[in-house]
Amino acid sequence: MHLKILSLPGDGIGPEVTCEALRVLRHVAAQWNHSLEVTEGLLGGIAIHQTGSPFPEETARLAADADATIMGAVGLPEFDNAPPEKRPEKGLLGIRKALGVFANLRPVRAYASQLDSSPLKNHLVEGTDMIIVRELTGGIYYGTPRGISEENGETRAVNTMTYTRGEIERVSHMAFHLARTRRKKVTSVDKSNVLENSQLWRRVVVEVARDYPDVALDHLLVDNCAMQLILNPRRFDVVLTENMFGDILSDEGAVLAGSIGMLPSASIGARRPSGAWVGLYEPVHGSAPDIAGQNKANPLGAIGSVAAMLQYSFGLQAEAAAVDRAIEAVLTSGHVTADLRPSGAPATTEQVGQAVCAAIK
Ligand code: NAD
Repeated sequence: MHLKILSLPGDGIGPEVTCEALRVLRHVAAQWNHSLEVTEGLLGGIAIHQTGSPFPEETARLAADADATIMGAVGLPEFDNAPPEKRPEKGLLGIRKALGVFANLRPVRAYASQLDSSPLKNHLVEGTDMIIVRELTGGIYYGTPRGISEENGETRAVNTMTYTRGEIERVSHMAFHLARTRRKKVTSVDKSNVLENSQLWRRVVVEVARDYPDVALDHLLVDNCAMQLILNPRRFDVVLTENMFGDILSDEGAVLAGSIGMLPSASIGARRPSGAWVGLYEPVHGSAPDIAGQNKANPLGAIGSVAAMLQYSFGLQAEAAAVDRAIEAVLTSGHVTADLRPSGAPATTEQVGQAVCAAIK
């Protein structure tokens, strides 16, 4: 397979963790005989420095041309008081919008060697392996009318939760498609006992489910889901939900697994004529200026994002599984970066990347 990748290392620890993610990607490509074409682009603070814009036109063009984009992180303290248009984070919103990535996928997996870093008791979190599919470009964060106004001497704030059938259908297909590559179970989360919006959500999800008779579907109200994530996280395989519920539940899911440096994410858009899904892959963490340039950032979130890219954009299940197994092997070895509190001397960012490559079979 030919893999055409855009790399956007960004700021702070972004270049360090992206370098290790690309090391692993190159290793996988060589092992499985895929041809790899990697282009590098500018995003965030570094892009402002070099071009004046956090999301230069050239980066938009490169992203449109690539099959998938790997991002490090953006953000530099020197821009903390800059106007919104001149902030690195504007670049992140810009590329998400330009790529039209409507589904955010966050795997939540409890690695056996990291159970003690979870806030849950080991026996509750052990074996957890789910993916949260959050609708990313609709719902209350985008709906209009919105705003704060003065009416009859009273201040009033309005936001609008709105979804179309099409928006619900495409993210639902994404969730069912993913479930087929996993344990074949989708849990749709809504608030249909109160919100008309959720009633449409549930109706459309049930209709889409008819195309996937081999996938089991159940529904949870969002308040119950928040509780079940803590009480019984193992019950979940694919969790499908709208934008705001997903925002909240995916952070709840994130803490189940441990250190922020380990968490990958994927944002997916439409399918390209080549068959690849448009995808933006990035670790969940930020640019961590406090440890930048010291070769001590944990690259496993970025490397896990490569596994997600292989799986979701290219359907390369064996390669993705090999990267995930290698991450687990490195975690089990205990030779990990300082944030995971190893018992011996911490590994460097580079050593962890090399160890993941060495563990890929
Ligand atoms: P952060 O995630 O960068 O750092 C939070 C803490 O976690 C820090 O102590 C940091 O050292 C640690 N940490 C983060 N990633 C780590 C890793 N891979 N290995 C080891 N330790 C790690 O969050 P923050 O400090 O709130 O934000 C710093 C900058 O990053 C800000 O400019 C913010 O806007 C930006 N940011 C960017 C993204 C993104 O690019 N997607 C996400 C969040 C924050």
